[in-house]
Amino acid sequence: MFADAKKILDDKTVEVNDYDNFKNELEKGRLIKAPICDNPKCEEKIKEETSADVRVIEEDSNDSSSKCIKCSNQSVVKPLFARGY
Ligand SMILES: [Zn+2]
Repeated sequence: MFADAKKILDDKTVEVNDYDNFKNELEKGRLIKAPICDNPKCEEKIKEETSADVRVIEEDSNDSSSKCIKCSNQSVVKPLFARGY
C-alpha cells in the first residue's frame, strides 16, 4: 500500500521554489513540494491565499538550503502541499 501511494505521489508531485510557480502548479491539480520556514504564519497565509495546506511531511524533507516560498527566510522543511476539497 505504501509503495502505491508513493508512486501516485511521485507521478503528481512537482517541486517549486517560488510562490508564483506554487500557485501555477496548484491550478493544475498537482501536489507540490515547496520549502517553508518555521513560522506557522507562512503556512497559514499560504492556506488562506491558495486553499492549499500541508499534507505530508516526509522523513527526509528537512531542508535548510532553500528559501521559504512565502517570506523568503531560510526554510526548515519541504512538505507536500495540496489543495483541500
Ligand atoms: Zn516563511
